[in-house]
Amino acid sequence: MALHSLRGFRDLLPPDSALFASLEAAAREVFALYGYQEVRIPTIELKELFVKSTGETTDIVEKEMYAFTDGGGREVAVRPEGTPGVVRAYIEQNLSQNGRNAKFFYIGNMFRAERPQAGRFREFTQIGAEHIGNASPYADAETITMLVRLLEKVGLTGCSVELNSLGCADCRKTYRETLLNYLRLNAATLCEPCKGRIERNPLRALDCKIDGPALAEKAPRLSLCPACEEHFARTQQLLKISGVEHKVNPGLVRGLDYYTRTVFEVRSSALGSQDAVCGGGRYDDLVKSMGGPAAPAVGWALGVDRLAMLLKDKPAPDHSPKAFVVAASKEAGAKAYELLTAVRAAGVSADFSSFDLSLKSQMRSADKSGASFALIIGEDELKAGTCAVKPLKQPGEQKIIPLPETPSTLSQLLKG
Ligand code: ATP
Ligand code: MG
Repeated sequence: MALHSLRGFRDLLPPDSALFASLEAAAREVFALYGYQEVRIPTIELKELFVKSTGETTDIVEKEMYAFTDGGGREVAVRPEGTPGVVRAYIEQNLSQNGRNAKFFYIGNMFRAERPQAGRFREFTQIGAEHIGNASPYADAETITMLVRLLEKVGLTGCSVELNSLGCADCRKTYRETLLNYLRLNAATLCEPCKGRIERNPLRALDCKIDGPALAEKAPRLSLCPACEEHFARTQQLLKISGVEHKVNPGLVRGLDYYTRTVFEVRSSALGSQDAVCGGGRYDDLVKSMGGPAAPAVGWALGVDRLAMLLKDKPAPDHSPKAFVVAASKEAGAKAYELLTAVRAAGVSADFSSFDLSLKSQMRSADKSGASFALIIGEDELKAGTCAVKPLKQPGEQKIIPLPETPSTLSQLLKG
């Protein structure tokens, strides 16, 4: 049987790979503007890290994790998301020591063993931001604003920012009881997985794709304590100041355990049923619960694969070389190779096929390459130490130029 890639794992080829790279480059620019610095965290961690942070009863940990016992008998897992690793690094590397806010971003592939479908893969890329050590609504508003500015920068339109507050541990404790009672009474109307969730993690039922919408309508709603209420109101007010349109969705609960207070999602109806492009929220208790200092935090993770799907119709960047070097004879090959090196050293993209091939075949490749100019070294040019610069895209005369001047003349021609 021929070798093939695994289901849910894919090859990213041009022009998609270029689109991914351009989205990542745009993100890096925006992060620099907002004072976020990059961290690169391991792909594999102790399984326990995800169980403790993402949450034992979440879908990610219960059903979607690639976990295995390594050669040393350790229970490890391939990361399903970025936040646990960043928080682990923050604690392990003492990143809070300087007392400043820690603002990190990461770009990396994540792995979840879920059923592959449109917009859902087993390996996918996330761009994520984490702001650790800041409890104020300014941090919530700033990070959501940064996300929206990034989406605007890459040209995404037609998406909506949905916002909710899950309150603090105190608000949730009371609510958990209320919801538990409601779910017990209405168990008969719930889907099978949700029946099992009632006792283990009643809040998770609100995030269920089947029961969630109806529960958001009918189930009792969480009421916020005054401090959480104020935090939520101020976050919205600050978003207004930075010109970020959003709507409050009381049904938004998110599928991870560690969220407190603000949660948000960016959705696009153009994606169909997998409509979330980005999800995030505040996690004020996570760092401490993982054994670190009391460090409130807020963050998000953007799905690059889904973002790329939404931007697919945008014109792909032109990756054609500017120049294509051709040797008209075998003897001219070494000179042509030297010229190719010099042109690239001058910062002009250049390519060639093979200097051992016929002139005709090389010229055919030059035409196909999309280059603006062919640089040809024939018999006469080899003797005279020159090259012929032939326009390929526009009509125009071929020019004979001394070899040492070719890179700079070419740069001039390309500017003109
Ligand atoms: P969903 O409800 O679609 O399963 P999620 O709540 O599991 O999303 P998060 O854990 O919040 O997703 O991850 C943030 C973003 O990462 C999502 O909004 C999405 O764009 C992307 N993402 C998550 N899982 C996948 C996947 N299997 N394939 C592609 N992108 C994904
Ligand atoms: Mg999911």
